[in-house]
Amino acid sequence: MAIATTNPTTGEIIRTFTPLSSSEIQAKIAIAHQAFQDYKLIPLSQRAVWLHRAADILEAEKYRLGAIATLEMGKTLKSAIAEIEKCAVGCRYYAENSAKFLQDLAVPTQARQSFVRYQPLGIILAVMPWNFPYWQVFRFAAPTLMAGNVGLLKHASNVPQCAIAIAEIIEQAGFPMGTFQTLLIGAAQVEEIIRDPRVKAATLTGSEAAGQSLAAIAGHELKKTVLELGGSDPFIVLKTADLDLAIKTAVTARMINNGQSCIAAKRFILEEAIADEFETKLVTAYRQLKLGDPMQPDTDLGPLATFQIRAELDQQVQASIAQGAKLLIGGKFDPDQVGYFYPPTILTDIPKTSPAYTDEMFGPVASLFRVPNLDAAINLANDTPLGLGASAWTQDQKECDRLVDELEAGSVFINEMVKSDCSLPFGGTKRSGYGRELSMLGMHEFLNIKTVWIK
Ligand code: NAP
Repeated sequence: MAIATTNPTTGEIIRTFTPLSSSEIQAKIAIAHQAFQDYKLIPLSQRAVWLHRAADILEAEKYRLGAIATLEMGKTLKSAIAEIEKCAVGCRYYAENSAKFLQDLAVPTQARQSFVRYQPLGIILAVMPWNFPYWQVFRFAAPTLMAGNVGLLKHASNVPQCAIAIAEIIEQAGFPMGTFQTLLIGAAQVEEIIRDPRVKAATLTGSEAAGQSLAAIAGHELKKTVLELGGSDPFIVLKTADLDLAIKTAVTARMINNGQSCIAAKRFILEEAIADEFETKLVTAYRQLKLGDPMQPDTDLGPLATFQIRAELDQQVQASIAQGAKLLIGGKFDPDQVGYFYPPTILTDIPKTSPAYTDEMFGPVASLFRVPNLDAAINLANDTPLGLGASAWTQDQKECDRLVDELEAGSVFINEMVKSDCSLPFGGTKRSGYGRELSMLGMHEFLNIKTVWIK
């Protein structure tokens, strides 16, 4: 994919960028390597000052930064601003908590003194997606920089101006030159970076194919990776649920980010007793959503991020219908209309072999399933190779206990939609990836966890 800003609301190419050459990549790695030698010695208290300053800049510039995201990938401006506010919260969280997360952990043994010490590794490569163009990066950058590592960012090719803005914020905040750099490069150039001995580890958020490619190369180089990949999260509604709240949340949980979130609710699994009411009310709620210019404050749903994403989503919808799925709303777009818009869509009666059952649908398409009871709900929820998040709605404690225990997912949210929270680990199981971001556990992924034994 060319590195370019293309406005998905109009299809207009706004600006193109020349990818870095191999020698330019080498020069950036050299700067990062040099920066690490000094940066790892800088006290945590100083790093925290800079990270608080980064939060100040994010807050002060949230309208300008938000408009860049809306321009490049089509999320509504109000959601872009909320994303930037969340980045500021993330920066402050790590500025305030890292000393606790990084302090030596005393472990009594037969030694006179034994403990665990957490030390930075060096250069960490982050390969990031466009869908939350700021948050995905800051949830990596804040703990990485606090831990004393330095970062290289290969952002998605359709959000280059967001990528540049992030590096500028970190520099303006006071972090020394070379501690965090954006590399404007294509996916094929990632291999050279992972193979460089100065680069110690890599994290990737994105598709399965990208994760497999990066992990294979890193595996060959014996380097640690964290992978945050796709999700086809269930949203289970049982007859004991607070139905109105579940329906209201179901709209946001599916439509957040124009339907392009890894942890969006994608498969709605409804206990038969409440299925009719849920379905009718969800159709009504989706009908009321306003599709349009994402810069406007009253728009609920902007365009999809690229022409290709819309084409793939529509292909999945049409293939599912061709196999027998029933369309309740949406499912058609006007190819002559400017912009990559796709309407809120609901499918039901979904065959087991159709894409709506087997694949992740990355757009505003809800798949509805009916089940007779809790056992069937759990079986269906787990009948996917993916295992990112799961949301379930019940007011019954026994049902709650079973859902928490039996759902195969990196997180389970009861009576709430799945979301990321700085103080809790975030990540998947099965083919949704491995490793964790956020919280203390996320920070520890890219550290040398050194055992110390003193006799
Ligand atoms: P993608 O194509 O995999 O792109 C993500 C990033 O990986 C981009 O920077 C991309 O660069 C790069 N990339 C692509 N192929 C690569 C390769 N072979 N080697 C190295 N880097 C490569 O992902 P997407 O389709 O745009 O994003 C949507 C997917 O991401 C969905 O499956 C979604 O669920 C998942 N996602 C997961 C999480 C999570 O936290 N688990 C969060 C957000 C999204 P280019 O842009 O240059 O191709």
